[in-house]
Amino acid sequence: MTPPTPSGQAHVGLIIPVFNEVDVLPFLFRELAVFRQSRPERISVLFVDDGSTDGTAARIREMAGDNPDIRVISFSRNFGHQVAVTAGLDFCEADAAIVMDADLQDPPDVAGRMIDAWKAGADVVYGKRLEREQVGFLQRFTARLYYRFFRSFTGVDAPLDTGDFRLVSRPVIEAFRRLPEQQPYVRGLISWLGFRQEAVEYVRPGRVAGRTKYPWRRRFDLALDGLASFSGKPLRYAMRLGLLVSAGSMLGLIWVLLTKYVFETAITGWASLIFAAFFFGGMQLFFLGVIGSYLARVYDEVKGRPRYVVRSSWSSGPVGNNFGASAHPDGP
Ligand code: UDP
Ligand code: MG
Repeated sequence: MTPPTPSGQAHVGLIIPVFNEVDVLPFLFRELAVFRQSRPERISVLFVDDGSTDGTAARIREMAGDNPDIRVISFSRNFGHQVAVTAGLDFCEADAAIVMDADLQDPPDVAGRMIDAWKAGADVVYGKRLEREQVGFLQRFTARLYYRFFRSFTGVDAPLDTGDFRLVSRPVIEAFRRLPEQQPYVRGLISWLGFRQEAVEYVRPGRVAGRTKYPWRRRFDLALDGLASFSGKPLRYAMRLGLLVSAGSMLGLIWVLLTKYVFETAITGWASLIFAAFFFGGMQLFFLGVIGSYLARVYDEVKGRPRYVVRSSWSSGPVGNNFGASAHPDGP
């Protein structure tokens, strides 16, 4: 989509999921004020409070004062970062949205470059990390490996080394809203949508304050969600391996019969039997798990629960506290 003509001021909405980020807010608000001053566009901010328990939402309201362009929607509990981003896109009313971290790891000046690329005609502008400060070797290495694996495994043309920091234009937001997945893997879905996608490269700084809300366990879950939501290959591989093993066991049977009746050197050892029992037992459990995880996804989809529940929404502007109030939990 081409942005509005110069006569109508373009409106860019920042979507910032926050989960117990009270420590970073002073830094964030300072940077946001500078950023909004520096841009010709109207910049609004939509915080998605993902069930914070440290008073993050109250602190945001306090700091927003009477600025009508700062809004907060609060979830009834923690639903996770990916769902918070999804909610932000559901509620966004701007001509383009930029998803960013609260902790200033996604610097506003890079967001400015994204807006420029959008104005030049791009529909999706993603931030490609050239370097990541304050991130350990193991995390950097596994992440790089994962993005490459994801791409070749799922066949989705997803950019490498790219998180959720990206700008999406109005048509992309509308298309995204029509994807009903219960466990959205946002970066994968946006790549899948297509449109005109461009990169801006940047060095990702460390957190300005507080601690990461993405421990290893969550990172791992996100990685599995990404793969399982874009590929049924693990199931197919399980089938192929099963076939291969069956074919192999037929050969084994022939060999056993030969040793007994032709060579007459019958097997005395049980080691090989025990080994086979454990090996195939393990394989069966593993692939039952693979199948089970797909079944769980199907079950989640079938239940058709809303992806999140909004407890309250707030803005200090003329719309008052009923912004976005709607009977439908999936958005206004
Ligand atoms: N976040 C969230 N819900 C969660 C976990 C994280 O809304 O369950 C927010 C968090 O407050 C931050 C962003 O998502 O603004 C990214 O999280 P974080 O910075 O901790 O992840 P990292 O940058 O370390 O990967
Ligand atoms: Mg972060």
